[in-house]
Amino acid sequence: MTEPSRRLLLAQAAALAGAALLPGAWTPALAATRIVAYPFTLGVASGEPTPDGMVLWTRLAPKPLDSDGGMPPAPVAVTWEVGEDRGLKRIVARGRVRAVPEAAHSVHVEVAGLKPGREYFYRFTAAGHASSTGRTRTAPALAARPERLRLAYGSCQKYEAGYWSAYDALVADAPDLVLFLGDYIYEGATGRNVVRPHQPVEAHDLATYRTRYGLYKSDPKLQAAHAVAPWMVIWDDHEVDNDYGLDQDRTNPDPAGFLRRRAAAYQAYYEHMPLRRTAAPVGPDMLLYRALNWGQLAQFQFTDTRQYRNRRTCLALEDGKSIPDCPERTDPARSILGMPQEAWLMKTLASTTAQWNLLAQQYQMGELKRPGPEVRYSNDGWDGYPASRQRIVDQWAKAKVSNPVVLGGDIHVFIADELGADPERPAASAFVGGSISSLGAVNGDLKKLADANPHLRFTDGEKRGYGRVDLTAKGCDVTFRAVQNALVESSPAFDLAKFHVEAGRTGMHTV
Ligand code: FE
Ligand code: CA
Repeated sequence: MTEPSRRLLLAQAAALAGAALLPGAWTPALAATRIVAYPFTLGVASGEPTPDGMVLWTRLAPKPLDSDGGMPPAPVAVTWEVGEDRGLKRIVARGRVRAVPEAAHSVHVEVAGLKPGREYFYRFTAAGHASSTGRTRTAPALAARPERLRLAYGSCQKYEAGYWSAYDALVADAPDLVLFLGDYIYEGATGRNVVRPHQPVEAHDLATYRTRYGLYKSDPKLQAAHAVAPWMVIWDDHEVDNDYGLDQDRTNPDPAGFLRRRAAAYQAYYEHMPLRRTAAPVGPDMLLYRALNWGQLAQFQFTDTRQYRNRRTCLALEDGKSIPDCPERTDPARSILGMPQEAWLMKTLASTTAQWNLLAQQYQMGELKRPGPEVRYSNDGWDGYPASRQRIVDQWAKAKVSNPVVLGGDIHVFIADELGADPERPAASAFVGGSISSLGAVNGDLKKLADANPHLRFTDGEKRGYGRVDLTAKGCDVTFRAVQNALVESSPAFDLAKFHVEAGRTGMHTV
């Protein structure tokens, strides 16, 4: 075992010990740890709701831009409380955990024993300080048929590129659930189009990834969005490095060196997200794909298209990010998910009994022919792995999956798209909810793309924002919510476009 992976394993073991309920480990020394400055500068979060609980998250970091967060190199006891009311008068669960320096004093509490399908509130205290109070909820009982689910989904929040007023609107929407579909941080330090400057160094090791999260999570609008509902998160590339896949990025062909970087990035990701212990990384490996049930109304399948994919292909023909239709591109042995994750997804799709099945993944999933003298395809997304996409489309039909809908991110464009060979009888409708702040394409270029791809029903790359989904037994309403101007600190949002998918019928209608 290499030294960095051994150290990460030790760190993980310490983090696991820290996450467990340890009433017996409460010692006077621990209780006496003093933190003078306010430690809850990064807010609170919850995630992974089940019918009887969820994960509660915080991190002690009085100085989140310092590599140690401004914390002493010692464990600190943190108390958590869950109540039925915002004032936390009716406490229904509480406990104590240790925040350890090996996990950047982050805390992941797995609460259980709560009632299904209801709202709860939570708060942490440590060393004489109390955090803000967050709102969360449990998922409905598995057999329940909830009348409705409101969720919001977003992606791509490049800090330098703009402000996050999208979250003001998201909070006002009071969603039951928030999905984040990748590019939570950007590792780079490009210095281009900078509205809000940040660290001048590209994140590349544990210390620099941690301080990047420290900066991003200091934003009050993002904190408010975490405090309004439980989040389900998946990553894309920029949580590690631009366009990486498996064990390589574009500039570093050395897998061993890249995997050290991936291990550091995954560790920092885990430390800052409300994830279960089953997701805690072991060296460069971290299990992020999973499903979430919302009673019988909906099941979400969350995928990881970065960690296990086959390497990029047809590199000799690559120009920028695109390739022509070379034979290797369509090789059925290639997978963007990797075969074990594909097998899991096929099994999950074969066994779901939910009325709506939402595939939550990182991309614009449908094929995008890039117009020009020869048709070209992106070599980074599903178009680099079309056989992998086709197996999912085939499984929706073969397993008679009820009402599949795809949600995505990555492309910084609001896109509504019909998936499958026949856009008049699509296999599923797919919606990319724009980007929270990352800059996208100009609409003139998107017009050319839409002309070459008639299955695209809507595109707008000039606005920033998020998607809102309202699900009932009758239908799925998707609203693209756009911010008027993401380059100023605060700006109102409006409905950019609305779509309706009727239960039992494929294809979207513009509302
Ligand atoms: Fe992005
Ligand atoms: Ca991306």
